[in-house]
Amino acid sequence: AKEAGKGSYMIYGQEMQQYFDERMIIENHLRSAVSNNELSLHYQPLVDTGTGELWGFEALIRWNSPVLGFVSPLSFIRIAEDCRLIVPIGEWVLRAACRFTKDLQNQGYEGYHISVNISVIQLMLDDFTEMVLSVLEDTGLAPEYLELEITESIFMESFEAISSKLEALKERGIGIALDDFGTGYSSLSYLKQLPITTLKIDKSFIDSIDTPNNRSLASSIVTIGHDMGLNVTAEGVETPEQLAFLERTRCDKIQGYYISKPIPEKEVAGWVAGRMA
Ligand code: C2E
Ligand code: CA
Ligand code: CA
Ligand code: CA
Repeated sequence: AKEAGKGSYMIYGQEMQQYFDERMIIENHLRSAVSNNELSLHYQPLVDTGTGELWGFEALIRWNSPVLGFVSPLSFIRIAEDCRLIVPIGEWVLRAACRFTKDLQNQGYEGYHISVNISVIQLMLDDFTEMVLSVLEDTGLAPEYLELEITESIFMESFEAISSKLEALKERGIGIALDDFGTGYSSLSYLKQLPITTLKIDKSFIDSIDTPNNRSLASSIVTIGHDMGLNVTAEGVETPEQLAFLERTRCDKIQGYYISKPIPEKEVAGWVAGRMA
């Protein structure tokens, strides 16, 4: 490994070395982040497009390191996957998000769901299914209120093994959403074989609603999803024009800054109460 490191250094030069240094620093601090309570969750609302009612939230991880400050999940999730720290971190996220949602339900918000991002590294574990079911049992959250968000790249790993795990969870009533849909390269016939319940249209297609010539992409995805019997969610909705277009195309759920940015856990109850007032 040392040899390879040296070789890379010689080929890619200083930038590569800087990346390795940065990675090492993040990895070292991340190792103690869970036990030091440095991780927290923000919750971004998802709304039923037709009725305007709150469906629930997507849990999004935040890391405030005493040494590094706020580190974006876009930079540390990849590193956590490479060093497998995503396994304990991912379980922590799932447990915290399910507990939070069960608490909300206990406070009278009975119908709220929770959507949780799952990494391929977690799905490759033999006991992934058992882990999810035991978190539901421990927290008391009913399976139909949980949705797992996965990406197409997951199925590159070991299609059969991962599909059967997701299928088992789906049979229990857990939702499976295909995140960032449209950015991968799945053929439509392949899509049919996946054990999923929801398509989540990537933000790039929602952005393109503002350009008349590109609009048809977003509405085509909604139609394809519905033809396959799937729910369709749009992420990254920022403008009333995008919302109006998605309403017309009968997209089921929307999420984005136009509704709300991700909300720190402690502020969620206040946000919900304010919305109902
Ligand atoms: P994602 O799953 O696609 O999540 C959506 C990202 O877009 C979030 O960024 C969210 O804050 C942002 N977003 C939502 N609405 C809007 C909008 O209207 N406009 C714009 N410009 N952005 C919007 P965030 O929280 O920085 O997360 C980035 C990515 O990190 C996520 O992308 C997801 O892939 C990953 N991630 C976050 N939390 C977790 C986690 O608990 N586990 C795993 N495995 N990955 C996570
Ligand atoms: Ca997501
Ligand atoms: Ca997404
Ligand atoms: Ca995205």
